[in-house]
Amino acid sequence: MKRVYNFNPGPATLPLEVLQEAQAEFLNFDNSGMSIIEISHRSKPYDKVHNQTKADILELMNLGDDYDVLFIQGGASLQFAMIPLNFATKANPGSYALSGTFSSNAYREAEILGVGEVAASTKDENFRRVPAQSELKISPSAAYFHICNNNTIYGTEYHYVPETGGVPLFADMSSDMLSRPWDFKKFALIYAGVQKNLGPAGVVIVVAQKKLIEKSLDTLPTMLRYDTFYKKNSLYNTPPAFSIYMVGKVAAWIKNQGGLAEMAKRNARKAELLYSAIDSSDGFYRGHADKDSRSFMNVTFRLPSEELEKKFVAEALENNLSGVKGHRSVGGMRASIYNAMSIEGVEVLASFMDKFRRSNS
Ligand SMILES: *Cc1c(COP(=O)(O)O)cnc(C)c1O
Repeated sequence: MKRVYNFNPGPATLPLEVLQEAQAEFLNFDNSGMSIIEISHRSKPYDKVHNQTKADILELMNLGDDYDVLFIQGGASLQFAMIPLNFATKANPGSYALSGTFSSNAYREAEILGVGEVAASTKDENFRRVPAQSELKISPSAAYFHICNNNTIYGTEYHYVPETGGVPLFADMSSDMLSRPWDFKKFALIYAGVQKNLGPAGVVIVVAQKKLIEKSLDTLPTMLRYDTFYKKNSLYNTPPAFSIYMVGKVAAWIKNQGGLAEMAKRNARKAELLYSAIDSSDGFYRGHADKDSRSFMNVTFRLPSEELEKKFVAEALENNLSGVKGHRSVGGMRASIYNAMSIEGVEVLASFMDKFRRSNS
């Protein structure tokens, strides 16, 4: 069976063991004689999957009973709208740090509703870094302060948790969710489209303080209210059962591997391999991100010419290295090295980078 080293940004690589497990039990899930996508979301076997997945996520994040996990469809992009709809007003707007494409998209939704303000932006520097604490101008009256924890397209990541002066901290963690231990208790609401680091597309995990989501504005339609999902255990309507089931398998896999501490260790090692291939290349490879903001999940870099970049993508593929082409807004290369990417796969890419540089410079 041919499997490539998959560096796609999302949907992205998943642990092979997880895929094999899902395959093995696909036709007869939990002795039901049916697959997980054919059974009722109100059945016992599904219920077990749903609640175990929630419990494992909270356990991995070291969060207690004051938080809940919601499963919502519509992608991270719908969260961009649900957040200001549920929490922001003209008097208490949402405050945003703009550090890339997705944080800007999140802010735009608040802007459409007339309830957003900008606390900081690194757009003038082509989003090479995330804003520093000293640059954040968060109004004390803000309903929340929103960051994008890892900027998937530009390859930058927060390596500190912002202090907000009491304003609830919200974060889009779509591309670095469960990749490292973090002080999650400092966040009031975290969300992640799972198709980057945790499963197939189709569900967003929202991890939020219960006190924040137990009551929504009465003027909001049912499916746009957090309290609908909270009060009904995300079973008000039919949930995306297969996606949730796969996230549950990935969460169990992370636990078995040693939890977030082990993920962080592996991810740091992988990032180190690629960033040192860049830094030791005498300028042949140029990293997009400033060193202090470098992402451990998405490594972005340019080559001396677009022609060489095309050649790099083509030859990488011949070497079983797939998905290394960067996003059009940055250009160049992007290697996405999520939890499921093996150290071995990154070693193969790093040595390909060395070889390519030597034969093309
Ligand atoms: C991919 C991505 C999104 C968009 O997710 P959708 O589920 O496609 O809406 C938002 N934020 C971040 C950080 C992402 O990487």
